[in-house]
Amino acid sequence: MNVLVTGGAGYIGSHVVNVLKKEAGFTPIVYDNFSTGHPEAVADDVQLVEGDIRDIEFTRHVMAQFEIDAVIHFAASSLVGESMSDPAKYYVNNVEGSLHLLQAMKQSGVDYIVFSSTAAVYGEPEKTPICEDFATQPTNVYGRTKLVIEGMLKDYAMAYGMRYVALRYFNAAGASLTADIGEDHHPETHLIPLILKTAQGVRDRVSIFGTDYPTPDGTCLRDYIHVEDLATAHVLALKHLVGGGESRVYNLGSEAGFSVREIIETAKRVTGVDFAVTEEARRSGDPAVLVASSEKIRKELGWQPQHSTVEEIIKTAWKWHQNHPHGYNG
Ligand code: UDP
Repeated sequence: MNVLVTGGAGYIGSHVVNVLKKEAGFTPIVYDNFSTGHPEAVADDVQLVEGDIRDIEFTRHVMAQFEIDAVIHFAASSLVGESMSDPAKYYVNNVEGSLHLLQAMKQSGVDYIVFSSTAAVYGEPEKTPICEDFATQPTNVYGRTKLVIEGMLKDYAMAYGMRYVALRYFNAAGASLTADIGEDHHPETHLIPLILKTAQGVRDRVSIFGTDYPTPDGTCLRDYIHVEDLATAHVLALKHLVGGGESRVYNLGSEAGFSVREIIETAKRVTGVDFAVTEEARRSGDPAVLVASSEKIRKELGWQPQHSTVEEIIKTAWKWHQNHPHGYNG
């Protein structure tokens, strides 16, 4: 089965490609415009096509050329702050891009899609842990675009017989166990890579955004999930669809909340570096607590996170950062 992986040169996509290529019967074909992805993140033995999901004609051409049977869809803009200052970019890249991808799938007779969604579709949750049937009230444009796409998937599935699995990730983190691929965003906005760059001396200090949240230590609680565990979930989702399973929406988290201070303390211990930390004002749009219930995917698909302790997440990410102090460029 040939699987087109849009955004397969990105952080999560490249990890999924590595897991997928080891699965008997699945061949990933990476489709990426390299706006944020890295060709170096794709192994030499994987077919890599430079292309843009907004280009229906070319996507259709690629689907025919490689006899694509299924799509795993990561290609998207994903910076929350940027989505607020430049919503047009997010509606074009995410909503229009996904619409055009679905059009190309429909025209090519490709019926299965696993979609990279986000916990940001929930917004500020009423209670915790968050289940899939909770209200979806995104507080930022990024989350809103992902929710619109989930709606499109539902409508296409109903009308045209496609089937989908939408995976709502909580905080993806960590790097491959072999440390050959990892997180390399420009600009970097995520907590763990920023901490590790500070431990390395590439940055001066770590800022804690907000110390007055209604949490035990005043800083935000997040549910960190190892990128290798996310990758496994995508393969399970694909097998579910191919095996005749119905369309589904699943949370992916480790079901445990860690505060910003706890992450910093663990990183100090793992790296052995006592780096500088400053306390700053809240970052706008950050809910106090985001913790998933992942019971649904555990029960239905048998997903079991294997690497999602904060220790292991930070250890693997640290190894990646040490091997690649300037990301893929050095
Ligand atoms: N955070 C922080 N300092 C930073 C970056 C992030 O205190 O330099 C906090 C942020 O406010 C949030 C948590 O760390 O509570 C995780 O943020 P991240 O951007 O990694 O992921 P998000 O939860 O926004 O998807």
